[in-house]
Amino acid sequence: MTTRAEMIEILMPRVRVASQAIFTDVPTWRCDQPPRICGCGGKVPCGVRCECQIKHKQEYDRYQDARRPSSSQGGYNSRWRASSKAFLSGSGHERYVSCGMPATMVDNRIPAKGDMALFWDRSNWQPMCRRCNLSKNARHDGGFGRPVAGGRV
Ligand SMILES: [Zn+2]
Ligand SMILES: [Zn+2]
Repeated sequence: MTTRAEMIEILMPRVRVASQAIFTDVPTWRCDQPPRICGCGGKVPCGVRCECQIKHKQEYDRYQDARRPSSSQGGYNSRWRASSKAFLSGSGHERYVSCGMPATMVDNRIPAKGDMALFWDRSNWQPMCRRCNLSKNARHDGGFGRPVAGGRV
């Protein structure tokens, strides 16, 4: 009787030799499905990722690693959090003028639509309550989107 561990010992080298490239953490011998055809046109044994998927994953990981240390998104988030908090604690910024509710966030009066100069321009900032901000955003195609016809704040 061959134990599972022994089976793996026997099969592992063969799998490795068969294809170094397609060997992944998913053992091929557990799979009894026929090979699939990947989107790239390659024939891929069941239970493994296609070379193109592995390559994409590696590129994606590299891309993520590259932007992680000085993540612009992270920098933006912490800068925005700090700046908007400071803005809201300023005098006269406690409430949203239109509804009188306590302001919990900073809104761009004119949607910046990706214009970073406008986005960070404090004269374009207004304290806003969450509820009104949500309903304002609902009238736009996303935060940086175009105003929907007739949609006015
Ligand atoms: Zn592929
Ligand atoms: Zn409100």
